[in-house]
Amino acid sequence: MANSGISKELDGLASGNPTEQTGPASYDADLIVIGGGPGGYTAAIRAAQLGQSVILVEKEAIGGVCLNWGCIPSKALIQAGKQYEKMCQASQVGIVTADIQIDMKQMQAWKNGIVDRLTQGVKQLLSANGVTVLSGEACFQSPHSLEITESNGQKLTRTAKHSIIATGSSPIALPHLPLDHQVVLGSREVLSLQHVPQSLAIVGAGVIGLEIATLYAKLGTQVTLIEQQDRLLPALDDDITRLLKKALKHQGIALHLSSSVQGCTVVSPDAGAQLTVADTAKNTGSAKGRNKSATTTINAEKVLVCVGRKPNTEALNLSAANLSSNAAGFIETNHWLQTATASIYAIGDVTGGPLLAHKASREGLIAAEQAAGKARTAKTCVMPAVIFSDPEIAFVGLSEKAAKAYGYAVKVGKFPFAANGRALTLPMSKDTAGKEHTGMVKLITDAKSNAILGAQCIGADVSEIISEITLAIEMSATADDLALTVHAHPTLSESWMEAAEAVENNAIHIFHAKK
Ligand code: FAD
Repeated sequence: MANSGISKELDGLASGNPTEQTGPASYDADLIVIGGGPGGYTAAIRAAQLGQSVILVEKEAIGGVCLNWGCIPSKALIQAGKQYEKMCQASQVGIVTADIQIDMKQMQAWKNGIVDRLTQGVKQLLSANGVTVLSGEACFQSPHSLEITESNGQKLTRTAKHSIIATGSSPIALPHLPLDHQVVLGSREVLSLQHVPQSLAIVGAGVIGLEIATLYAKLGTQVTLIEQQDRLLPALDDDITRLLKKALKHQGIALHLSSSVQGCTVVSPDAGAQLTVADTAKNTGSAKGRNKSATTTINAEKVLVCVGRKPNTEALNLSAANLSSNAAGFIETNHWLQTATASIYAIGDVTGGPLLAHKASREGLIAAEQAAGKARTAKTCVMPAVIFSDPEIAFVGLSEKAAKAYGYAVKVGKFPFAANGRALTLPMSKDTAGKEHTGMVKLITDAKSNAILGAQCIGADVSEIISEITLAIEMSATADDLALTVHAHPTLSESWMEAAEAVENNAIHIFHAKK
């Protein structure tokens, strides 16, 4: 793929200096993959397609976090929540419904059916491609040898010419907020609740916190979001997060920014918990600003702790492979996903960067092809990301503020969904009067070259339109290229064409004052 005008993003990546290690004369397999999530299973399948003999070791469930406890289960429930909301609002479009109820057990069964179908599909693909799957926990004995402890305690040793570490990440625990898995929950449990809680306090308003907040708010839960930082999603531009904050308010979600949980008392499984929350803005202010009202109590039937994730490296015995993790615990790699030991690659969440399933699977392809001697590409420079909150948010490349910080002369083109015919037909977050449609797309361009540097968008179904700009950036497209491309009508993606025109104040469906 073409390198885009945002190659400065690559500057921070580790270049690495891998060391060659001599292994035994013959191996049990060409490649051992540790971890069967989207990174690991993708790597295993691609290596097998390229004629490699492959062993995949998974200690818990094929599909990893993504298929079993992350992307898929959360998106299934979010979709169900949207469907419920749509049915409740059906009278607005002239459909009369009555007695709409939530059967949470059935919703969970439906979600589990999707998870089963996908994980079974991956197992079949692994088998059809001739990948040997071992159930157990793997750790290094040497750079080319791994010990695998099966669930019955039995130990196996397997050697391989190359290995790929794809062990993913786990939630960070807060010492003063331990999970009891009944009232104080992690994301796995909150996605498996068998009833709709009356109230839910979410500690951490990152991607997972926001998605779960808007999901349960739709199902009727009183949701409180508690976030230590003074703003939501710092990677995004303010015009996007402003709309998000407004939409959260309209959904009745209480948002506490600059707030940190000091303590938690679980009253009982039915009565829930009591959180003591300190307003850090007030507490860190001047002596004058410190006052008693800086601490509040929040009662909730359930508490979700989602304050970030840490890499799974502890069980790997990395030192036996002459490896170590960095200060944050992640395994560093070069552009080819090769670690400091040349025969070992690392991919996905365990390497840090954006913790996203599509990043893990793309890295799986790169590492597998590299190990098989058939590399097509190195680490890509743009990684799209989507937040499946209501409204959805999607972004790729540089934000306006990041582009300016890199020294670009930035030109921006924006287009509101209120002026897009297709958007008006979709269920959207509306203001209290039920009038205003939330949503916009924003294109960030380099004023000198007209190249597209990045894009951010917010609104219904924007998850489906971000790939156009990802491709545009990969192909080094300009705003003109986008403006000159005919977009089908009526579609949300027409908004990109209008935003590209808006860079030069030429969009048709918004008024620009005469230059
Ligand atoms: P994982 O999926 O974590 O897989 C790692 C696997 O390795 C696990 O199965 C684990 O059991 C296994 N393992 C670990 N150690 C060992 C060992 N020593 N031996 C053997 N096996 C081992 N991302 C998105 O892109 N889109 C989304 O919408 C999205 N939603 C999410 C929602 C939630 C609630 C969560 C928690 C995450 C979400 N993510 C999403 C993130 C996404 O799930 C991860 O980025 C992705 O799963 C990472 O893939 P991976 O292959 O690196 O690791």
